[in-house]
Amino acid sequence: MLSNDTDFQELLLLHGRDRRHGKLIEEKKLLPDDLVRMDQKIKIEQDSIDLAVLEWKELEANNNSLEKELLQISDKIAKNKNKQLEVKKNEEYKALENEIGVLIEQQSVKEDEQIEILLKIDDASATAKVAQEKIALKVVDLERQRANFEKRIQQVESEIVAIEQEIQEARSKVLTDMLRAYDRVKKIVSSAPYLAPLNDQKCSGCNLRVSNDVISTVLVEQKLTQCDQCGRIVYVER
Ligand SMILES: [Zn+2]
Repeated sequence: MLSNDTDFQELLLLHGRDRRHGKLIEEKKLLPDDLVRMDQKIKIEQDSIDLAVLEWKELEANNNSLEKELLQISDKIAKNKNKQLEVKKNEEYKALENEIGVLIEQQSVKEDEQIEILLKIDDASATAKVAQEKIALKVVDLERQRANFEKRIQQVESEIVAIEQEIQEARSKVLTDMLRAYDRVKKIVSSAPYLAPLNDQKCSGCNLRVSNDVISTVLVEQKLTQCDQCGRIVYVER
């Protein structure tokens, strides 16, 4: 059987290394995308912390301006009360009294508003603190994953160098004719595998049934044979 032939086994070994090489090249191509994806995830988390803090700060700013308005109102009330002490006419006194009434009304509305904002500030600061703590942990985890991808890029690069060396070694052990046929198949077949065992007369590379001629060449003549459908080298596993 061809698959027991030591020369063919050298070819199988080369094929295995070529496939490993192909997978590493593919992985190397995809890894930068993983890094970009991690960066995006980290940014989303950090943005959500920023958003929570921003909401909180905005409420604080609202509270500060309310505080100022309240001071202005009580200032006006005090001034009007002072004026009341000075005026002589009853109408003037009443007019001031009205103004004070309006101001007190305003004051009470603003105070209610402030109470609401203060409650919201309590919530928002608690939310922001939880976000900061929880998300910071998440970000640490995401950064760790990102570092792993970076490590993997280095690893893949050195694995590629190693496997290329091993491929050269394997190629030097394959018979010239076999190697030539194999390299030809690699050119015509768009994707691995380039060697495909037959299963029930079907090529396991393309899943199509091969002709009887192919079967007999493989079984009887035991020489390197290609699938008449896809061109891959077919053999029988034993
Ligand atoms: Zn095929």
